[in-house]
Amino acid sequence: MSAVETNKVLKFDVLVIGGGIAGGESALNLADVGYKVLLVEKELSIGGKMILLSKVFPTLDCAACITTPKVSEIARHPNITIFTGAETKKITKKGEHHFEAVVLQKPRYVHVDDCTGCQLCEEACPVSVPDQYQYDLVGRKAAYIPFSIASPRAAAIDIENCTLCGACERACPTQCIDFTQTEEELLIKVKSVIVATGFNLFDPLKIPRYGFGEYRNVITSMQMERQLAPTRPFNTILRPGDGKMPDNIAYVLCTGSRDKSVGNPICSQICCMYSIKQAQLLMGALPMADITIYYLHIRAFGKGFNEFYAQAQDMGVEFMKGKVGKITEKENGNLLLRYEDIEAGVVKEAEHDMVVLSVGVLPNLGISDVFDNERLEMDPFRFVAQSDMLASPAKTSIEGVFVSGTASGPMDIPDSILSGGAASVETTSYLRRARV
Ligand SMILES: Cc1cc2nc3c(=O)[nH]c(=O)nc-3n(C[C@H](O)[C@H](O)[C@H](O)COP(=O)(O)OP(=O)(O)OC[C@H]3O[C@@H](n4cnc5c(N)ncnc54)[C@H](O)[C@@H]3O)c2cc1C
Ligand code: SF4
Ligand code: SF4
Repeated sequence: MSAVETNKVLKFDVLVIGGGIAGGESALNLADVGYKVLLVEKELSIGGKMILLSKVFPTLDCAACITTPKVSEIARHPNITIFTGAETKKITKKGEHHFEAVVLQKPRYVHVDDCTGCQLCEEACPVSVPDQYQYDLVGRKAAYIPFSIASPRAAAIDIENCTLCGACERACPTQCIDFTQTEEELLIKVKSVIVATGFNLFDPLKIPRYGFGEYRNVITSMQMERQLAPTRPFNTILRPGDGKMPDNIAYVLCTGSRDKSVGNPICSQICCMYSIKQAQLLMGALPMADITIYYLHIRAFGKGFNEFYAQAQDMGVEFMKGKVGKITEKENGNLLLRYEDIEAGVVKEAEHDMVVLSVGVLPNLGISDVFDNERLEMDPFRFVAQSDMLASPAKTSIEGVFVSGTASGPMDIPDSILSGGAASVETTSYLRRARV
């Protein structure tokens, strides 16, 4: 046990680690059949990446309209307890149907139940820092509500950037800001564990020739997703360099996917389709804009995907089979893409006023270190290994520990929900065996 004293012992049937759409689905299914579930999420809100998306392929349904009712069902379910801003430090298998976990609840410095979400603390706080939930496109205050549809919709204090000036405390009408809060370590006893820790996005700084971080009009697909979302940072699509509305946007597919030179040889499975989706949404938002997608292969393999791809072509999105070698910036902020036109077999150059890097999916490392006395095996690409992938896809190398969603590999939302369902069913039959 660490220096912090474990001062509480709590008992549940299942510990779900990760409150994205997959973990949420698993938790909800288990709670509906009567199991007591603890959902531990490291961020300040549940909902994972999906709650931050614009619309979803291939139906163009609003992502928030699907996520928010589900998230509020999870939040209100009498059989689900949620810890946000919490970290699972250690899990020990004590025996069959008996796991002990040490969970660290970090201080939010706000009593969530008393916070009305009025945002007066935000207005009063003099400190501005980049907003991680808007993928650094805009700033936020040190006293802040993560985003408008966050669950819980309550303020938090970013203590690392806080100057302790006290302005938020003075502005708060309910006196719910509490700088005396400290870390709390809890001992959790459960019968089963679900790992739903999701994925990480490829960091395009690792491909310096694309100029991300150097040229402000080169952005990531997640930054474009935020610009297209209903909870977007600006009221329209802007290029960050000068606030101009772009009219000639390029997408570079497979940024950090299928690329051994950056250590990620696998296909991310979602980038083709989310780029085609964004291109269609951009044509609606900026009807005069030209959109070009530079691709190696378009992988439109799912139900309705090929039709969705054809729809984008019919709308006028240009698809260029080309490998982008280098991006350079012109004085006016426009970008020159040097690429190989694969079909013509020649190197060409094209000018665009904004470039979106369709970044790939990487494993979220670290969860295997949490398991103390048994080994949670990883696959060759460092996602959680499925010990019986074809027959029981949610099973892991530890009996009683199941995997849900993109923690086991890249997948889209419908597959993450299916995987979340599979994990809850496998968990149920494991728990039923405990009863017998
Ligand atoms: C730009 C972009 C656009 C996309 N568009 C679409 C689309 O249109 N349609 C579609 O089907 N899919 C789309 N996707 C894919 C979609 O986002 C994923 O399929 C989905 O989010 C996977 O859900 P998940 O729960 O497995 O993972 P995540 O969304 O990554 O959730 C995992 C959760 O676990 C938490 N977590 C991680 N580690 C820990 C830990 N140690 N302890 C506690 N909590 C932890 C994370 O904070 C997160 O909340 C898109 C993805 C991107 C990047
Ligand atoms: S105490 Fe910290 S969070 Fe509160 S207003 Fe001052 S800087 Fe902002
Ligand atoms: S912490 Fe206080 S001021 Fe800030 S949103 Fe909550 S109730 Fe309002």
